[in-house]
Amino acid sequence: MVTKYSNYVNGEFVSPASEATIEVRNPADHALIALIPDSAPSVVDDAVAAARQAQRGWEKLPAIQRAGYLRKISAKLREQRDRLAEVITREQGKVLPLARIEVDFTADYIDYMAEWARRIEGEVIPSDRPNETIFLLRKPIGVTAGILPWNFPFFLIARKMAPALVTGNTIVVKPSEETPVNAFEFAKLVAETDLPPGVFNLVSGRGATTGAALTGHPDVGLVSFTGSVATGQAIMKAAAANLTRVNLELGGKAPAIVLASADLDLAAKSIVASRTINTGQVCNCAERVYVQESVAEAFADKVVKLMAATRYGDPLREDGLDMGPLVNQVGLDKVAAMVERARGEGAQVLLGGKVADLGAGFHYEPTVIAGCRADMEIMRKEIFGPVLPLQTVADLDEAITLANDCEYGLTSSIFTQDIDAAFKACRELSFGETYVNREHFEAMQGFHAGRRKSGIGGADGRHGLLEYTETHVVYLQSR
Ligand code: NAD
Repeated sequence: MVTKYSNYVNGEFVSPASEATIEVRNPADHALIALIPDSAPSVVDDAVAAARQAQRGWEKLPAIQRAGYLRKISAKLREQRDRLAEVITREQGKVLPLARIEVDFTADYIDYMAEWARRIEGEVIPSDRPNETIFLLRKPIGVTAGILPWNFPFFLIARKMAPALVTGNTIVVKPSEETPVNAFEFAKLVAETDLPPGVFNLVSGRGATTGAALTGHPDVGLVSFTGSVATGQAIMKAAAANLTRVNLELGGKAPAIVLASADLDLAAKSIVASRTINTGQVCNCAERVYVQESVAEAFADKVVKLMAATRYGDPLREDGLDMGPLVNQVGLDKVAAMVERARGEGAQVLLGGKVADLGAGFHYEPTVIAGCRADMEIMRKEIFGPVLPLQTVADLDEAITLANDCEYGLTSSIFTQDIDAAFKACRELSFGETYVNREHFEAMQGFHAGRRKSGIGGADGRHGLLEYTETHVVYLQSR
């Protein structure tokens, strides 16, 4: 059954201003799932106006009351967890257990941000003058825009909405045109709560039109964007017209360093998980491996075995899979072309290396490539697929130099049982995050932020929360 969705503006699902729609298809079997509005800029104007109107009352509520509304939303998500997970899998392709984790994590994330309600603290600053007190207040920015990618589409709604709302902002969300259905289902659950109209709005459409209208809107105070570097750059340009703030979570090319002192089984398991979870389409997961010469062969054997055991297929038809399809044909073609170019540049494909023919679906075989060099595209550009490239290094110094020589700076990891090596890597790696002897996954109480082209600003924890606030300094002179 094909469902037709409507934008959610000012607390209502509104009939579309035009008949223009976008088709949403299942990446595992190409079946048409839904039609969503290809919204004109006038719909964005309506949503921003509703968000602006609602924001005045919303910010006046005590933060603890705003948190109460957030908790009602997270409770709804938990009630419908399995159904929502299926919605995510059908349009995005991740396996059901991971989709269930995504829903659980989304609900937990909303509750975590709600917990901050009593701690959106300002400061009292000593003055140089007699009888004067200086207060630094933390205030909401106003209307925020959340522009989302397709890889963790459900969680990313919460990552933007929850800190925005608890600090007194309102939001207009634009989901990815690849995976918008879960966002409409999210809006349906919001509509079942008594959240005041206009506090949360959802408008779908294409990036270049609907997204651009939102980014360039003069009444939007902050654009919080997760997606590719090229779009991040376009958003920053559009935001410059009104000097709108931007928070950009962009791409990654995370290095993983495996030293001779590593627990090789742990390293192999964690890095293979990085390349197979969400079919390798995760911004912070290991995308290039630097392994010390003396253990390079043993390590390659281990990852080849694990990658070869990866089960993949249509996640709604088969249980027990590790991977579903890639999100679309563009993603599949990009992965296939990158592997071909690596082969042409002299790398050796130890496993996989081709499109998997399962009759339907954008599947790529789990792939391991050895003999990579720093000048190869596969070691420099985001792959976003189940492909693991290996480069041999002489020592930690070489690994760190190669890891840092990259336009991306989101996450990094090191596997070693040598505490000095671990500390040296943490001191010298130039990334927003470093994972030591563990898989690539951030915690909600951390701070997920990239250096260089991986972004500006960040998300999660206290620092992420404060990105949704402005400072207001008050000088109070008394007699
Ligand atoms: P994308 O940049 O193609 O699209 C993301 C969103 O931007 C979509 O909603 C799209 O419609 C919108 N958009 C496109 N052009 C626009 C414009 N000119 N103005 C406003 N909006 C516009 O990204 P994607 O392919 O959906 O996502 C994959 C990328 O996201 C990868 O590079 C990945 O690394 C990155 N990502 C980063 C993080 C992180 O936390 N750093 C998390 C997840 C994904």
